[in-house]
Amino acid sequence: MFDSLSERLSGVFDSLTGRGALSEKDVDAALREIRVALLEADVALPAVKDFTSKVREKAIGEDVIRSVSPGQQVIKIVHDGLVDLLGGEGEPEGLNLTGEPPVAILMAGLQGSGKTTTTAKLAKRISEREKKKVLVASLDTRRPAAMEQLAQMAEKASVACLPIVKGQSAVEIAKRAMSAGRLQGYDVVILDTAGRTSIDEEMMGEAARIADVARPRETLLVADSLTGQDAVETAKRFDERLKLTGLVLTRMDGDGRGGAALSMRWVTGLPIKFLGVSEKVDGLDAFDAKRLAGRILG
Ligand code: GDP
Repeated sequence: MFDSLSERLSGVFDSLTGRGALSEKDVDAALREIRVALLEADVALPAVKDFTSKVREKAIGEDVIRSVSPGQQVIKIVHDGLVDLLGGEGEPEGLNLTGEPPVAILMAGLQGSGKTTTTAKLAKRISEREKKKVLVASLDTRRPAAMEQLAQMAEKASVACLPIVKGQSAVEIAKRAMSAGRLQGYDVVILDTAGRTSIDEEMMGEAARIADVARPRETLLVADSLTGQDAVETAKRFDERLKLTGLVLTRMDGDGRGGAALSMRWVTGLPIKFLGVSEKVDGLDAFDAKRLAGRILG
């Protein structure tokens, strides 16, 4: 479909080997290729501009190590810059589940983003890896099918799901989930909020009222990485209204190059905590900045 950035840059730099330092002209030629590659990977334009100007500063005047071609060297600068932008090389920021149990996690996102699936995946991960007792609850009062779907996925994940009681409001269900959590000794309660097709005031107001009741330690936005710039806009809007603590990007097993992830991080400054990598209940990976940088570079 497209040449990898590495191949393109080797092309630009083939004629330049043997020089002492990268000149402005060399770097600018490379930056043009980098810009196109990032845009093709679905990174938002302002993020691309900001990023390339930082790379320019760093690359100009940099000595070309003899054993490495200038192309490889610029790729390394770009790669390291991407890793930095994505949150650095260290261990990904995990979940903050400290405090008086039950600790609540609020899941937010548009309908179809993979929110319910991610709720079950996360519940499984926390119960298996952290040996915590986890309860999930669907607050999607408008779509009974969504409640049923969470119950089924929770069963697959071998975690408890709050029984469905018809006629309760989302806030009432949140209260019930938290008190069941307290009375039945759960460590973590994951609340799957209603998804809408677009962000509206009612949705945001409801989410804020739920947050008041549950006092979540984590509020995670689930966004579909394949929707590219729409996902970035969604992240921005949600972050303005809810106090998000992190992002989960789904469908990273799809064809996308992952640029939306970088844009979302750049726009919101929020850590990407997990990536959804399949439809299955164990298809959730901890975020790895280096791996994603490699994927964006192609
Ligand atoms: P919700 O409306 O946001 O709750 O979305 P769902 O959890 O119902 O997910 C919508 C569809 O996306 C379902 O068919 C899921 O199986 C699928 N899905 C969710 N996450 C992933 C993922 O990481 N990879 C893939 N390939 N499919 C996913």
